[in-house]
Amino acid sequence: MTISYIGRLAPSPTGLLHLGHARTFFLAHQRARSAHGILYLRDEDLDRQRARPEFSAAMREDLLWLGIRWDAELRQSERLPIYRAALDRLLAAGLAYPCMCSRRDLAAATQAPHEDAAAAPEDDEPIYNNRCRPSTASPANTFVSGCNYRFRTPDHVKVAFTDLHARPQSFTTSADFGDFLIWRKALDGDADGLPSYQLACVVDDALTGITEVVRGGDLLKSTARQILLQRALGYPTPAYFHCDLVRDNAGVRLAKRHDALALRTLRTKGVTPAEILAMF
Ligand code: GLU
Repeated sequence: MTISYIGRLAPSPTGLLHLGHARTFFLAHQRARSAHGILYLRDEDLDRQRARPEFSAAMREDLLWLGIRWDAELRQSERLPIYRAALDRLLAAGLAYPCMCSRRDLAAATQAPHEDAAAAPEDDEPIYNNRCRPSTASPANTFVSGCNYRFRTPDHVKVAFTDLHARPQSFTTSADFGDFLIWRKALDGDADGLPSYQLACVVDDALTGITEVVRGGDLLKSTARQILLQRALGYPTPAYFHCDLVRDNAGVRLAKRHDALALRTLRTKGVTPAEILAMF
C-alpha cells in the first residue's frame, strides 16, 4: 500500500504543552489518521538556552494522555550534519552569507516589521537592514564557524500559497520579511553553531517527505520564508493547514507561560482528555 499522507507533530521542548498545542496536535493526528497516513513526532530541541529534556518527556506523556499516537520519531539535535549540508549548499549557490552583526547592532539597525508589533507573533524576526549582504549578486561562500548566516531573499517578490484552513495567503519580500537567519553561531558546546528554526524545519519536512504541515496560525509568515528556502534547495512545497490560535480570556494568544492552561495543570485538576477535546 502506498502512503499518500505524511504529517508531523513538531513541539519545541521549551515549556509545558497547553490547550493551543492540544488543538493543533490533535488536529494533525486526526488528519493523518483519516488519510490513513503516518505521523512523525519531531522534537525541535535546538534552542540550547530553553529546551530541556524534562519538557521533551512531559510533552510525550501529555500527547499520549490526549490519545495522540505517532509512528516514528526524530530529534533535531541529533541531525546537525544534515542541516550543515543544506547550509553548505546555499552558501555554494551564493544564496547565504555570513552576518557579523551583533545582537546590539541588530536591535539598533533592524526596521520594525510592517505589521502592528502588538499583533505580530512574538517570535517573528524583524526585517534585516542588509548591512552584511554582499552587494554583488552571488559570490559563492564557504562555511566558517563563529558567525551567523542569513538567507539572501530575492527582493520584492510575492510569495503566495493557499492554506487549507486560513485560505489564500500572500507575503512580499523586502516588505513583510527580509534576509532571515538560517544559522546561528556557536555558543558554548556547539562547535559549528546551530541551524535556525526556518532551516531545520524546511530540511526535516523535505527529508521526511512531509505532505501536509499542520501548525499554529502564528507561523503563516514563516511559511512564506520556508517556501523560498524550499525553492532554493530544490525541495517540494507541502500542503499547509494553519490552525486558529487559542487565546486566553483576555484575548492574548496562549504561550508557554500560561501555566494555568497547561495540559498537566488541567489534568491535575481532574479535567479529562475528552473534556479538553470537546473544547475545540
Ligand atoms: N516547534 C514549533 C513550535 O513549537 C512548531 C514548528 C512547526 O510546526 O513548524 O512552535
